[in-house]
Amino acid sequence: MVGSVQSVSAPDTKRFDVGIAGAGQLARMTALAAWPLGITVAVLGGPGDPAAGVAHGLVEGDWRDADAVAALGRACRVVTLENEFVDALALAHVAAAGTPVRPDPASIAIVQDKARQKDLLASAGLPLPHYLLVEEAASLDAAGRDLGWPLMLKRRRLGYDGYGNVTCVNIDAARDAFSKLDDGDGVLVERWVPFERELAVMVARRPGGQALAYPVVETIQRDHVCRRVDVPASGSQNQLTQANEIALAATHAALGIGVTGVELFALASGEVLINEIAPRPHNSGHFTIEACETSQFENHLRGVLDLPLGPVNLRAPAAVMVNILGSRNGPAEPNRQALTVPGAHLHLYDKREVRVRRKMGHVTALGATVEEARERAEQAAAAVDL
Ligand code: ATP
Ligand code: MG
Repeated sequence: MVGSVQSVSAPDTKRFDVGIAGAGQLARMTALAAWPLGITVAVLGGPGDPAAGVAHGLVEGDWRDADAVAALGRACRVVTLENEFVDALALAHVAAAGTPVRPDPASIAIVQDKARQKDLLASAGLPLPHYLLVEEAASLDAAGRDLGWPLMLKRRRLGYDGYGNVTCVNIDAARDAFSKLDDGDGVLVERWVPFERELAVMVARRPGGQALAYPVVETIQRDHVCRRVDVPASGSQNQLTQANEIALAATHAALGIGVTGVELFALASGEVLINEIAPRPHNSGHFTIEACETSQFENHLRGVLDLPLGPVNLRAPAAVMVNILGSRNGPAEPNRQALTVPGAHLHLYDKREVRVRRKMGHVTALGATVEEARERAEQAAAAVDL
């Protein structure tokens, strides 16, 4: 029945065009983008998840469970992701059973491990902060001498929104962080980058390699969580062109399919370094829903289905996206005061529980200038009060 949630417990036919291994806000916005194109999407999650009510189908289960991922594969013609942490072996089984997984599970296995991802990008000749894989705490002293203090220690897998990252000013802090972040195969240690600004580029790519890069955006993090995205990014044309080219090259190197989000550091010297890549639509690409000819979510669907990509140009001179982050813990009771701000586009993710720092929604505003768009978006986001 179109428009309602269907539970698919033992599907034996491929009823859905695309299966997403997850049911959070990225799956929700991808499912919403599918309707006008007549593309059917099934998501993997629980009935209360953000995407469950808006997808064509729900495969009930958890993306961490290989059997549930296999059930998604049986129900869909193509499987894709909304987070990079889905077990790559479970995805490889889906592919071996005959359902294409995009991006390829072998590529996901590399990208989901921050250390292997760095090695892949380095071997493609791409500019990165100096880094080392430190396998035992005894090597931290040497890492500090090589890279200089402070050091940035990162858990290899399952880090997001800064959970899994620790800035360490001295050896005692680094030993302490290492013991918390090491899952038995070491910790990624990076030079602390004194960046001037952070940039991001969404790249849409088809299986054959055709790719388009969205305009470069500037991201503003607070406590390691994306707080705001300004479009276009400030900075010299040369630096923005570099960011664009690096993002395209990184996506090709990682064999991204659909959308790949590329996070970058812009240095005062003019240099651009890659922070990390994500093999899926990205928070810093939400502005594309209103601000671009084709949203990142639509192009993700087009890419994974090997359909022609849509144009990625801006439809306004400027746009600003502000995240609505939780400021308390408890049941979510969003108000709609943001709707009193003309030109502000409100997106709420239908999360039942609010937590401090949790991404609950976002607002995008377009404008003649970044300043104008920022004022509208900030005003509307502040009015939501979650
Ligand atoms: P997300 O889910 O938000 O992408 P994450 O948990 O994967 O985050 P990173 O992207 O590695 O973490 O880092 C989060 C933020 O921490 C970056 O956006 C940047 O502000 C800061 N950061 C990360 N690495 C470094 C570094 N080497 N030097 C300085 N700051 C850094
Ligand atoms: Mg990041």
